[in-house]
Amino acid sequence: MQSTALSEYEALVARGLSLDLTRGKPSPHQLALSDAMLSLPSTHVAADGTDGRNYGNPQGLKELRELFSAPLQVPADQLVVGGNSSLAMMHDTIMFALLGTVPGATQRWVEQEITFLCPVPGYDRHFAICEKYGIRMVAVPMDADGPDMDVVERLVAEDASVKGIWCVPKYSNPSGISYSDETARRLAAMPTAAPDFRIFWDNAYAVHHLTDTPAQLADILALCAEYGNADRAFVYGSTSKVTYAGSGVSFFGSSPANVAWYLGNTAKQTIGADKINQLRHVELLRDADGLAAHMRKHAELVWPKFEVVDRILSKELGDVATWTSPQGGYFITLEVPHASEVVARAKAAGIALTPAGATHPYGKDPDDRFIRIAPTFPDLEELEQAITGLAICVRAVNA
Ligand code: PLP
Repeated sequence: MQSTALSEYEALVARGLSLDLTRGKPSPHQLALSDAMLSLPSTHVAADGTDGRNYGNPQGLKELRELFSAPLQVPADQLVVGGNSSLAMMHDTIMFALLGTVPGATQRWVEQEITFLCPVPGYDRHFAICEKYGIRMVAVPMDADGPDMDVVERLVAEDASVKGIWCVPKYSNPSGISYSDETARRLAAMPTAAPDFRIFWDNAYAVHHLTDTPAQLADILALCAEYGNADRAFVYGSTSKVTYAGSGVSFFGSSPANVAWYLGNTAKQTIGADKINQLRHVELLRDADGLAAHMRKHAELVWPKFEVVDRILSKELGDVATWTSPQGGYFITLEVPHASEVVARAKAAGIALTPAGATHPYGKDPDDRFIRIAPTFPDLEELEQAITGLAICVRAVNA
């Protein structure tokens, strides 16, 4: 058995492949779904008469906020439209909290020791923001319906330095799981030692369903308000994987007090957002039905790729590994023994994978088990080759 696995691996290396399963990028076919935007907008005048060509309207056009209000579960007047990156909005929120005073805080975060809870496996770029600015990270295990809430409740109750938790609540990056109503309710209701504790609710995959049975997410802002913690959640989203990853629009949503605080900060950054791009998005997507129809076209392109990964892993690795079978989003998590060695073997065979450990704070997965698979960008044939090759690497390492 061992020699078969190794000789298969040697044959794989000899093929000299060059395949990439690293970042979750839309494929060129997906990007083409939005190419009508290249000749939009047909007008520079917004619904309220705003001239999109000029300065002004820092909160973003009402018609675009109304379009994304339901998917992001934020009232339109509590949404702010940003530039092309929601990650930039998350980064800036943390900057504003470090250097200014977030509502409910008695002190700027930069003057204290700050800790964030990081459900794992999680999104490496969230963790990178914390690492860059000296925010201590504590890993919290993920269950099938969100972070282990017993651990979260204990940590936030006993430690006033815990000011935040990163959450990707729907079709999570990278496991693809969605938070249950119970998890959301406990996050909203839990007593926290820090009066200025925040949930960073990164709903990046709010509309990225791959099946006809979309995950239903609880309304975190409404739950926080219900439990007397109205300012607790910051909600984020973007059209990076709806229209163009490089030229989309992003969103920040929260309580009226947090939105006023956020806009008070961004008013020092900019005299107004890119409203021409906002108009372009409204014209392309139109309304809830238009957005849903657009996302179905994405699903038609993406779902076969998720199926290929599932089919090959089931056939090749059923006895060695476990993996998730998400119903939406962009990622699949493969759990295998000796993940870093598998990734190194794959690299030597010309298959690029996200570094093992990237799913954890400081890039360190103590069990060395998690590998994030991003199947969207390669075409189907390349994907089949890459996943088949990955399975060969797993077997070679675990022979
Ligand atoms: N949040 C999550 C969970 C993501 O997976 C990604 C991209 O992969 C982003 C945010 C980046 O979003 P944006 O392009 O809006 O900055």
